[in-house]
Amino acid sequence: MDTQVAKIVASFFELDGKSNFASSAMTSTSSDTKLPQRWHFQPDLSTQVSPYYAWPPNLRKIGKHVLKSWSFYDVRIYVLGFSIFIWAYLSPELSRCREFAFDWLAQIWARNFLTLLIVAGGLHLYFYTYGKQSKLEKYEAKQPRVHSKVFHFNNQVWDNMFWTLLGTVTILSAYEAVMMWAYANQLNSTITFEQSPFWFCLLIFLIPGWTGLHFYWQHRAFHIPALYKLGHHWHHKNINVGPWSGAAVHPIENLVWFTAVLVLLLIPSHPIHVLFLMQLQVITAITTHVGFESLVINGETRFRLGDFYHQLHHRFYDCNYGTMAGPWDRLFSTYHDGTDAGDEKIRQRRKMLASR
Ligand SMILES: [Zn+2]
Ligand SMILES: [Zn+2]
Repeated sequence: MDTQVAKIVASFFELDGKSNFASSAMTSTSSDTKLPQRWHFQPDLSTQVSPYYAWPPNLRKIGKHVLKSWSFYDVRIYVLGFSIFIWAYLSPELSRCREFAFDWLAQIWARNFLTLLIVAGGLHLYFYTYGKQSKLEKYEAKQPRVHSKVFHFNNQVWDNMFWTLLGTVTILSAYEAVMMWAYANQLNSTITFEQSPFWFCLLIFLIPGWTGLHFYWQHRAFHIPALYKLGHHWHHKNINVGPWSGAAVHPIENLVWFTAVLVLLLIPSHPIHVLFLMQLQVITAITTHVGFESLVINGETRFRLGDFYHQLHHRFYDCNYGTMAGPWDRLFSTYHDGTDAGDEKIRQRRKMLASR
């Protein structure tokens, strides 16, 4: 394990940096939780396994999974609605985008700045500043560390806000601007809903699968030691993540992360597809790092937010590089299901790699 990461992890768990962080982390329990678990809240990942790769295929399960993913219980449908809304009301007309000009570039930047400020800021205020849900369905018992020398400005939230609102917003906006410039100059094949309703909808349906696939491979590449040191270690300073952690990544990682949208230059598409793909990337990055499983109001689970699968990646570093929907971690033996057996499997894999 990277020594810098080991130190950060050790400091989070208040351990000796030389300890076997995996086994130590596993026995770590918080002082303020009554649950005899190492997590304050832990969902059963086995109930969330994607049915796409099960054999024999179970069409009923696949259908239920698809419907749930696009239901009002999941963030995806809201991102789609938001993307259509910003295309209609908060995006420059394509006729203005034929040449790069400050006014429409600034419009895109300001809209993306406000979007991330409101989404991440709103979730942070709700869950952390005002503690509206207390620790209900919170993965880690501890609050994220505010003051820490590992972060810029010695403060996790200010560090995460700075890199989200400056770096991520700017690079996100740059990619969006290039795509709008390409559509405006007819450099790629543009379709409308009226012309090709089936393809228009199918592409929307396929985009989450594409971003998941792209995320796994670029994330896995950033765990190659040289690339990790180049940029990804910034994101891993966040062990106990919060809403501002999700899009707080190094600019080099941003440059690679947003290349997912470039596929739309190669296939018939519409600017709404660009907006949906990119807003899905950043908004789900924010919601999946919120640190809570769900939004719970009056004891009722209203909305799925967090991602325990990725929370495990932040704690254990060398597992769960992808998402629950993808097969890659299972294929390459880096899947951690949150159980003791998962702990043991990852520990054995580490031993095997260290002995090479
Ligand atoms: Zn990572
Ligand atoms: Zn993360």
